[in-house]
Amino acid sequence: MSQGPRGEGPRSVGAVGEGGGDRPGVLLELQGVTKHFPVKGGGFWRKSHDAVHAVDGVDLQVRRGETLGLVGETGSGKSTLARCMTRLLPLTSGRVLLDGEDITDLKRSQLRPYRRRVQMIFQDPYGSLNPRRRVGSIIGDPFAIHKVADGAERKRRVQELMDLVGLNPEHYNRFPAEFSGGQRQRIGVARALALRPELVVADEPVSALDVSVRAQVVNLLADLQDELGLTYVFITHDLSVVRHVSNRVAVMYVGQVVELADRHDLYATPRHPYTKVLQSAIPVPDPEQSERRARVQASGELPSPINPPSGCRFHPRCPKAQPICAQVVPRLEVKFQDPPSHLAACHFPLADGEELPRAEAGDVARVGPGDGDRRAG
Ligand code: SF4
Repeated sequence: MSQGPRGEGPRSVGAVGEGGGDRPGVLLELQGVTKHFPVKGGGFWRKSHDAVHAVDGVDLQVRRGETLGLVGETGSGKSTLARCMTRLLPLTSGRVLLDGEDITDLKRSQLRPYRRRVQMIFQDPYGSLNPRRRVGSIIGDPFAIHKVADGAERKRRVQELMDLVGLNPEHYNRFPAEFSGGQRQRIGVARALALRPELVVADEPVSALDVSVRAQVVNLLADLQDELGLTYVFITHDLSVVRHVSNRVAVMYVGQVVELADRHDLYATPRHPYTKVLQSAIPVPDPEQSERRARVQASGELPSPINPPSGCRFHPRCPKAQPICAQVVPRLEVKFQDPPSHLAACHFPLADGEELPRAEAGDVARVGPGDGDRRAG
């Protein structure tokens, strides 16, 4: 596959293009998905031509029954991509195919059958539930919207769902405030599963939860996947979380996928320096190792998506950058002798076991959560 022109994403080569309707096993396929948000301003008489490049030219496939982890720093465009793939947002360009069928340009009413097949779980279990509505009514929303059950039948099915996600069905008439954070996220999970979707896109589903309940929700999602044969896209800023839940991991940086690999390959032999930086942000119990890792971080801040850097977008922060990195967009392709499922977009990929140069103290930028994704998404 050809290299994307400047301003587009690093177009994939080889394995990533293996899906589609005539390609079995692929449930969802993204082809060159791009989402730009126009920036208002420029004064009364002048129209601004600026845009936030939230997502640029993403090619990605989600295979039936897998969990694809989508990881990246705050503001990398993960949440926007999630909303594009579920068609909650219209695309600027590119295509979204569900089971080989192009759903990119379908109108709201035409999307209804697909809404049943693709559902989202949102990050904030506090903000995503209406505090004035009873939980039974919240979970039953999809039945009402899609007119599939009402009255006693709806109540029965809602209570079944509550039981499925580990909530007491007798709490049907309670309000969200009467539940803990973990229980509220279970309410969100129950609502997402009401119509028995095939694909669930979970956007930072455990980030707002206490560490003590994160594992419970992650385990619940894993159990439900086994039980119901679900396919997940699991979005997080935290590489240590996707490590436990994903079969494959896609790493995003400023709107583009920069590395894609099976989970084990990504952790054992990261090829992209940005993946290595994310890896170094995973907390480790050994203080000595932790100190060593803390310095292996990118310098500077995440660049503005309004004016993303030329060439490789990571070049202003990359400890390995060379002049070509600022000029030529690296292709997302297989490096060294890696398996065809391991792709990276870098002119100077990391060799096996290669470490990044350590950044100077005071010149490191923290990689972690914030409000950028909510802003972009
Ligand atoms: Fe980008 Fe160059 Fe660094 Fe690779 S080495 S991540 S191409 S800046």
